[in-house]
Amino acid sequence: MRMRPTLSWTPGADLPPGTTDLAPVAEALRAGGALVLSGAGISTESGIPDYRGEGGSLSRHTPMTYQDFTGSPEARRRYWARSHLGWRTFGRARPNAGHRSVAAFGRHGLLTGVITQNVDGLHQAAGSEGVVELHGSLDRVVCLTCGDLSPRRELARRLEEANAGFAPVAAGINPDGDADLTDEQVGDFRVVPCTVCGGILKPDVVFFGENVPPERVERCRELVRGASSLLVLGSSLTVMSGLRFVRQAADAGKPVLIVNRDVTRGDRLAVTRVALPLGPALTTVTDRLGVSVEAAATA
Ligand SMILES: [Zn+2]
Repeated sequence: MRMRPTLSWTPGADLPPGTTDLAPVAEALRAGGALVLSGAGISTESGIPDYRGEGGSLSRHTPMTYQDFTGSPEARRRYWARSHLGWRTFGRARPNAGHRSVAAFGRHGLLTGVITQNVDGLHQAAGSEGVVELHGSLDRVVCLTCGDLSPRRELARRLEEANAGFAPVAAGINPDGDADLTDEQVGDFRVVPCTVCGGILKPDVVFFGENVPPERVERCRELVRGASSLLVLGSSLTVMSGLRFVRQAADAGKPVLIVNRDVTRGDRLAVTRVALPLGPALTTVTDRLGVSVEAAATA
């Protein structure tokens, strides 16, 4: 189950400090067969804040759970008002050097796959192919009644029409794509129903308190089985949905390499944790490998 992140988890003081030595990461990539598992940390340089870390949005805002969302029309109204506003920011976000580097690794045949915990679509925008979106994607909408999938931009247009003049200024935005709004700012925001059956619409993302679809988990497990190493990029591995793949790789004797500024829950299972920002770190690695990043910019 995707658990709501909490601020109560404090990393153990006995963990080894992170290094700045990127050589093991470059070596793992050069060997080929690396699997990338990415988290919010790779998108912060694109202007999408993490829940944790400095200025993390969790200090201001409690993310919506599946139970809250399905349990009350009022919660859904609040969610869609926040999400609709947040979508404008997400729509403007562009891939950064970290995403472009991952796409370049893939294009040069160094990866077996990319699993991302992010719902922002920025890996694909950078040119990565076959990305498994563990927690779904904000650019799709699903009907909870009939299962119809539709593009988010269509819903955004309908919400614009239903809420002319809705333009509050948000205090901040969250990695799941919703903006921080007060109840007063949410006001009388109008939600629209499924165009097929009139049912309840939800973004096609795995909410906190909701399970990742089992077939998606199995696809990821298969990717881990087929990989020779696991490269964790920008995830604190606080939630089990990502940590389990780190455990699987470590149990199978595959090296786990982490690039994340802060300590992670996977540090004990990793051969190294590089404590550097993703964009500059991965740019250094692409330089060392002689991998061209420029051609990856398809977006
Ligand atoms: Zn429907």
